[in-house]
Amino acid sequence: EAKAAGRNQVKFFDPLMQASLSARAALETELREAITHRHFLLYYQPQVDASGLLIGAEALLRWEHPHKGLITPGRFIAEAESSGLIIAIGQWILRTACEQLVTWSQQPGYADLPLSVNVSARQFHHPDFVADVLHILKETGANPERLGLELTETLLAEDMDTLIEKMKALRTHGIRFSLDDFGTGYSSLSYLKRLPLDQLKIDQSFVQDLLDDPNDATIVKTILALGSSLDLEVIAEGVETAAQRDALLTFGCHCFQGYFFGHPGPAEKLPSTLDP
Ligand code: C2E
Ligand code: MG
Ligand code: MG
Ligand code: MG
Repeated sequence: EAKAAGRNQVKFFDPLMQASLSARAALETELREAITHRHFLLYYQPQVDASGLLIGAEALLRWEHPHKGLITPGRFIAEAESSGLIIAIGQWILRTACEQLVTWSQQPGYADLPLSVNVSARQFHHPDFVADVLHILKETGANPERLGLELTETLLAEDMDTLIEKMKALRTHGIRFSLDDFGTGYSSLSYLKRLPLDQLKIDQSFVQDLLDDPNDATIVKTILALGSSLDLEVIAEGVETAAQRDALLTFGCHCFQGYFFGHPGPAEKLPSTLDP
C-alpha cells in the first residue's frame, strides 16, 4: 500500500519524522481503545445573555485517559479526524449530548436549554451524517429544536451545494447552526450569505486582545454588524474578564461564553436558568 510504503521510506530517510509517525500511530491505537472502553466524556460550558442569565451550553469533548488523566481535544481531535475515528467518536458525542438534553428536559430550570455540539468537517461531510443525527435524535427522544451544531469555516472548502442541502435537511427538524471560530478562516461574504445559519461565534482570539488591540476591536464590531445585517445571533467566545464583557456590551454584543461566566465542567455543575 502507498501508506505503508510511505512509512517505510520515511523510516529510512528521516528518523525524526518517523518518531512523529509512531507517536501518531500510538495515539490512534489509544483512541481506538478509548472508543471501545468509552473513555470519553462531555463537559458543558454555560452561555449567558447580557444579564448573566443562562441561555445555552456548549458540549466540549474530554478524554479520560486511564494513565494521563483528562485530555482536552486540542491534543487528539486532529488525529481523530485524519484517522477517521472522529466518525465513531462523533456519533458517541451526539448520542451523549442528546441523552443530556433528555435529562435536562425533565429538570426545572434546564427544561428548554439549548445545547450546541461541535461537528468536525470530516464528520459533517460523511454521507450518513444527516441520517445518523436524525436516527440518534429519534432513539434518544431528544427535542431537535434544542440541538445546535457548530461548524467551522474549514467546511466551506468543499462542495457548497451539498453542504447547504445537508444543513437545510437538518434545519427542517429544528436543528440550529452556528459558525464557530468566526473570523479566523477565510469564508467570503457571499458564502456566508448563502449558508442557512443561526449564529456566529466570534473567535476567542479577537476577544482576548479586544481592549488592547484596536484591530481586534474593529474585527469584533464588524462581525457584530455582519450578524445584525444577516439577521444572525452573535456570541462572543473566550470572555475572561468583566472589562471584556463590558466592552462587548457597548459594541452591541449580548451573548457570551467564557471563563468569566463559567469553565466547562460536568453537567451537574452547570448553573440553572433559574439562577440569577
Ligand atoms: P471551540 O468549539 O471553539 O470551543 C471553545 C474552546 O475554548 C474550548 O476548548 C473551551 O474550553 C475554551 N474556552 C472556553 N472559554 C474560554 C476562555 O474564557 N478562555 C480560554 N482561553 N478558552 C476558553 P476545548 O474544550 O479544549 O476545545 C477546543 C476545541 O476542540 C473546540 O474549540 C472545538 O473546535 C474542538 N472540540 C471540542 N469538543 C469537540 C467535540 O465534541 N467534537 C469536535 N469535533 N470538536 C470538538
Ligand atoms: Mg465550538
Ligand atoms: Mg470556537
Ligand atoms: Mg476552536
